[in-house]
Amino acid sequence: MNRNRRKKTARWVIKAGSNLICSGGPLLIRAWMAQVAALRFDHQIEIIWVSSGAIATAVDRTHFKKKTKSLSEKQALSAIGQPLVMDLYNIALQSQGLLGSQVLITYEDLASADRRKNFQNTLEQLLEWEVTPILNENDAVATQEIKFGDNDSLSARVAKVMKADRLVILTDVHGLYDQDPRKHPEAKLIQELPGVSASLLRKVALSSGTAAGSSKGTGGMYSKISAAKMASDAGIDTWLIQGDVPQVLNQIAKNKAVGTHILARKNKARVG
Ligand code: GLU
Repeated sequence: MNRNRRKKTARWVIKAGSNLICSGGPLLIRAWMAQVAALRFDHQIEIIWVSSGAIATAVDRTHFKKKTKSLSEKQALSAIGQPLVMDLYNIALQSQGLLGSQVLITYEDLASADRRKNFQNTLEQLLEWEVTPILNENDAVATQEIKFGDNDSLSARVAKVMKADRLVILTDVHGLYDQDPRKHPEAKLIQELPGVSASLLRKVALSSGTAAGSSKGTGGMYSKISAAKMASDAGIDTWLIQGDVPQVLNQIAKNKAVGTHILARKNKARVG
């Protein structure tokens, strides 16, 4: 069945960062997957989940000491951590009566038209079967030059390719602030943005910490705002939000004012 025949179903791409996966562990993933089930069955929203945390989980599990890692060390760590992370998702989904699936992709898989089509077909089939796709970059084979680099960018590209309605980036800060909340306690959370302008992107890049960067993953606030820009420009609403807030996904489904909501720009330019 293709998506046009399932008109009533909305589609979200949700991305969870490494810090959350490591600090929240099995309990947080269980809470998320319970919400995935509720979104699917109570709100008719199908979910494509993007999870980081493979390398960080392997580092925790193997007590890997070095701070700077070579490419081959990162690749090997990702191969250790990826199945450990997937174990948590599979168990959590099964407790909701759902099945999970693992899809690992590289930048080339979305850049090449043929491979992109295969990716789209696989995901459409999984969604039709009501199986939840859990995506990550295929770090074990991705080279430094041809890498998404961070899962924020990967999730925005996937949202475009899969014609998602919303992109939700779950992170360990409440959202985007008007100034660095670590230095300025009076900093205010920006609840809504009409889109991401080039000047905002520059400001975030310069202030390297309008909110905390990530200590375990590769993406900081800049990569999140860049991802939000890509999604918003393609007509996709994006939320940047703290991922361990109870019922965070259900709150977004109910259109509560949570996190930072970056509105979709009117012109929809989706990748075919
Ligand atoms: N793909 C990396 C991992 O699973 C994470 C990349 C990122 O931090 O965005 O470890």
